[in-house]
Amino acid sequence: MSEADLAQRYRQRMQRQKTVVDTAIARADRVKGLLLVLTGNGKGKSSSAFGMIARALGHGMRIGVAQFIKGRSDTGEEAFFRKHDNVVWHVLGEGFTWDTQNLERDMEIARRGWLLAQTMLQDPSFDLIVLDELTYPLKFGWLDLDQVLGDLKNRPSMQHVVITGRGAPGTLCDAADTVTEMVDAKHAFRAGIKAQQGIDL
Ligand code: ATP
Ligand code: MG
Repeated sequence: MSEADLAQRYRQRMQRQKTVVDTAIARADRVKGLLLVLTGNGKGKSSSAFGMIARALGHGMRIGVAQFIKGRSDTGEEAFFRKHDNVVWHVLGEGFTWDTQNLERDMEIARRGWLLAQTMLQDPSFDLIVLDELTYPLKFGWLDLDQVLGDLKNRPSMQHVVITGRGAPGTLCDAADTVTEMVDAKHAFRAGIKAQQGIDL
């Protein structure tokens, strides 16, 4: 086949591809506040959520973050985003023990955390809310899943919410618009490399 024929075939293939993509884009014409769930055992859940914060800030949007974290370590994203006028950053569960030594206390911290999350979910001035590691208090039964699902459902219609954490409950995934399962194909930790600043925290 001559070079001209090859170029012609390439153009035709690209044109067909363009038609398919353009049709799909034209069909997706609705706007709404999205619920995203980033789950699975692979690395990249929280850092993806923080990447969306950067995107949203670039568009002048207002962001609320609630971190339901296990143990406290000072993260680069908190140091960076906390300074921003358009970001409200809450760290909850600084004292979560993640064992059942003090179940009452852990449940209380989780519930207080959800009260804070609720106030943001009722406030239309927040364009994007990140509920980092929310799956853990859900998994341990420290928060009422039906209550959480109800509060998410009743949020302002244009508000986006990103939830991260391993083992997201099926009903939460069912309620979400976008669900991504991070796959742990390989992780440096298993080769004995400790968490690295700028990459892991
Ligand atoms: P990141 O914050 O880097 O996006 P993540 O939110 O997907 O990670 P978490 O389960 O919240 O993952 O764990 C947070 C910390 O554990 C990070 O330091 C991350 O690099 C590390 N980590 C994530 N996945 C794994 C894994 N499969 N094995 C070991 N460590 C991991
Ligand atoms: Mg995480």
